[in-house]
Amino acid sequence: MIDYTNEIDTLLKRLYPITRSITGNGNRETLKILQEHIPLKIIEYPTGQEVYDWTIPKEWNIKDAWIKNSKGEKVIDFKNSNLHIVSYSIPIHKKIKWSELKNHLHYLEDLPEAIPYRTSYYNETWGFCLSYSQFLNLDSKLNGDEEFEICIDSKLENGSLTIGELLIEGKSKKEYLLSSYICHPSMLNDSMSGVIASTFIAKELLRDKKNLEHSYRIVFVPETIGAIAYCANNEKAMKSIKNGLVLTTCGGLGQYGYKQSWQKENFINEMIEDVFEENNIDFITYPFDIHGSDERQYSSQGFKINCATISKDRYYEYKEYHTSLDNLHFVKAENLNKTVDLYLQLISKMDKNIIYKNLQPNCEVMLSKHDLYPKTGGAILPNSTLSVLDLILWSLFYMDGKTTLYEIAKKLDVDLEVLYKEALKIEEKNIIKKVMNE
Ligand code: ZN
Repeated sequence: MIDYTNEIDTLLKRLYPITRSITGNGNRETLKILQEHIPLKIIEYPTGQEVYDWTIPKEWNIKDAWIKNSKGEKVIDFKNSNLHIVSYSIPIHKKIKWSELKNHLHYLEDLPEAIPYRTSYYNETWGFCLSYSQFLNLDSKLNGDEEFEICIDSKLENGSLTIGELLIEGKSKKEYLLSSYICHPSMLNDSMSGVIASTFIAKELLRDKKNLEHSYRIVFVPETIGAIAYCANNEKAMKSIKNGLVLTTCGGLGQYGYKQSWQKENFINEMIEDVFEENNIDFITYPFDIHGSDERQYSSQGFKINCATISKDRYYEYKEYHTSLDNLHFVKAENLNKTVDLYLQLISKMDKNIIYKNLQPNCEVMLSKHDLYPKTGGAILPNSTLSVLDLILWSLFYMDGKTTLYEIAKKLDVDLEVLYKEALKIEEKNIIKKVMNE
C-alpha cells in the first residue's frame, strides 16, 4: 500500500485555512500549492464569458470582515474563521441596529457550536455566519436598538475564474477524467479531501507513466460553474471521454460508499464493488441521482460520461457537512491515504480494461511455434483453477475486438492483472493487437 500519510497531513493543514470560493485568489493559491506536487497548468476563464447557459461571474476577493459592538469590540471576526462570511458578500461598511443585523445572520439551531457555510453567488447581497451559541450570547444581552458597526472589505469585480488541469498521456489517447472541486473555504471532507486524493493519484500515475494504457485528464475546478466552463472550453475532448471519477467527501470518519455512474451496469460500478470486496470493506451503494457534484454536468445529455464517486461520509449525509466542524478533527490523513490507495486499485483496473483482437482468428494458433506453449504443463494460476495454457487458449477464443479484458477476466474468473500480464506476452508475439473502440 502507498503511504502518503505525512504529505497528506501537511497538505490538509496548509489548504485548510485558505479562503476559496468559485473565483478568487484563494483558488489560485490552492492550485499553486498543488503545483508543488504535480505539474498542473493553471487556466483562467474571464468574467463575462458565456459557457452554455451560464456566464462566468465577477471575481470575488475578501481581505477582512468583522462586526463590532458599541464598545468597539469585535464580536465576529473573519480572521478567526473564513466561514463567518457568506461567500460572495458584497462590500459594506456601516452602522446598523441589532434588529436589522439579525436578518443578515445565519446559524444552525440544531448544531449550536457549528458555524454554517453559506454562499450567495448569483444574488448580490451580504451576510455573516456564526454559531447558534454565539448568536444566543449576543441576542440575550441586547434589545433591538443596540448599534453595531459592520465591515466587509471585499471586492466583486471583473476578473476571471481559475481552474487547474493536468493531462497525463498513456499509450492510448483514450482518456479517463478525474475531477475534483476547489471552491470551498475552510472545510475538508467536502472539497479538499477530493482535491488532495486527486493530487496523490496524479502523482502515482506520473510515477508509472510509461506503463499506462490510458491517458488521464485531471481537473481541479470550482464546482458547477467551473465544470460547466471546463466542458464548454474543451468540448471536443470532453465529448470523447466515456468514463470518469468525481472525487469528493472521501476522508471522513464514517463509512465507505460509492455513487454509481448513470448507467448502473457500466463496468466502473462493478470495478468499485470489486475493490471494496477485495479489501473487505462494507460499503453503501448510492444509485445515480441528478443531485450531487460535478457528475451532474459530465453526465448531461451532451457528454454522457459514466462518472462514479467513492465516498467516506458522503456529502449531505454527515452532520458536520457544510459547517466549521468539517475540519482537521473530522478528516484524518490516515483515512484519506487509505482512500487514495482504494482509488489507485480501481484506476489500475480501469487502466487495464482494454480490448484485444486476435489477429489469427482462423483455427487455433500453434503456440509452440511462438514459444507460448508452457514448458511445464499444468501450472495453475493464482486464485484460479485455470492453467496458463488454458488462459492463453481462452484469451484467444474471446479476443474478438469487442470484448474487454475485464469482461474476459469475469468470464474466466481470473484476476484482471493476471490476464493483462498474459495478454502482454501474447501481444509481444504479434498474435493479438489492441483496438481502441472500447
Ligand atoms: Zn459542498
